[in-house]
Amino acid sequence: MTTEITTAKELHKIDPVFGQVSFDNHEQIVFCNDKDTGLKAIIGIHNTVLGPALGGTRMWKYTNEWEALNDVLRLSRGMTYKSAISGLNLGGGKAVIIGDSKIDKTPEMITKFGEYVNSLSGRYITAEDVGTTTEDMDRINDVTKFVTGISESRGGSGNPSPVTAYGVYMGMKAAAKYQFGSEKLEGKKILVQGIGHVGETLVDYLTKEGALVQITDINENKVADVSKKYGAQIFTGADLYSADVDIYAPCALGATINDETINRLKARVIAGAANNQLANEQVHGKILKDKGILYAPDFLINAGGIINVYAEIVGYDAAEAMRRTENIYNTTLDIFTLAESNGLTTYQAALAIAEKRIADKKKETAK
Ligand code: NAD
Repeated sequence: MTTEITTAKELHKIDPVFGQVSFDNHEQIVFCNDKDTGLKAIIGIHNTVLGPALGGTRMWKYTNEWEALNDVLRLSRGMTYKSAISGLNLGGGKAVIIGDSKIDKTPEMITKFGEYVNSLSGRYITAEDVGTTTEDMDRINDVTKFVTGISESRGGSGNPSPVTAYGVYMGMKAAAKYQFGSEKLEGKKILVQGIGHVGETLVDYLTKEGALVQITDINENKVADVSKKYGAQIFTGADLYSADVDIYAPCALGATINDETINRLKARVIAGAANNQLANEQVHGKILKDKGILYAPDFLINAGGIINVYAEIVGYDAAEAMRRTENIYNTTLDIFTLAESNGLTTYQAALAIAEKRIADKKKETAK
């Protein structure tokens, strides 16, 4: 007799790791546990065909282990495609530490985590992410060389966010060129959601170019500061998704394009820094295409940070990192053209290019 599986919870009981919704033929998943420091972490290595799996370590108060596992699986896969499409010889990986970084994090825990990273002998290289800092990366660097984003005083590349913002700006200009016929953003109404490390620098670029920028953030003090500093307008409407703007730039959290929001969008272009902006890549990518809303794939235009970090591994300089980031403009235009000529969504087109690069490399190595 076969038993029908109806809930995700039941599915977990059957295939707790390889059966997860976010599992995508990941090469290796490492569960790290240290009783003495309280460390509970998961390292996800999605793909190492192009090179070592590089991706940040996120410390987050996950409500349960399934959430942490799915996050690391989803994020590490995203890193594979981000590096592949950016032409970097890197694979995709990511790590999560379960806990509240403000309460649970200790130097001993971070050092222990660094030892786990070291034990993988370079298959995984870590970096900063939500809940971890440059100081943490320096601490990890005390026990392993397989870490990036360390302090400039240690030979690191420093804060990647300004470079990420520059790449998003380039991707947005490419989208404006394709959708409105000109890359010029002067006079364009642009809503930036989230004015943190990346969002603020993006606002700087946009206001300097004469765009009509509106900003929104849950941090009201920050909104007031950024508005004053760059002359950006504070968004005061009831619903930001139906705001009458040309461009929507999600720079806060993922999945803001979802079943609830997608039909309210008035913007003709979506271009922002947040990872995983489409709640469902296939479904929402297709709806945007059908509505004629041009979506600049997030993993393509927010790659400036990883391009910058890559410099630490291969040794090129800051100017070269900016030049490579500037090239996001050309790649984004190429993706739009490829999507249109093949009837694909822009997300599918970007993914196809990234997957081809990995497949070509695999073939070449097999020879
Ligand atoms: P950040 O934490 O510095 O800024 C995020 C901002 O969003 C904060 O000001 C926060 O208050 C705000 N925010 C949170 N929830 C919000 C909500 N519901 N509505 C409005 N605002 C909200 O992060 P960051 O480094 O600027 O990164 C922004 C996004 O870009 C993140 O999704 C991140 O994963 C992604 N990203 C960042 C980089 C990088 O180099 N920093 C690289 C690639 C992708």
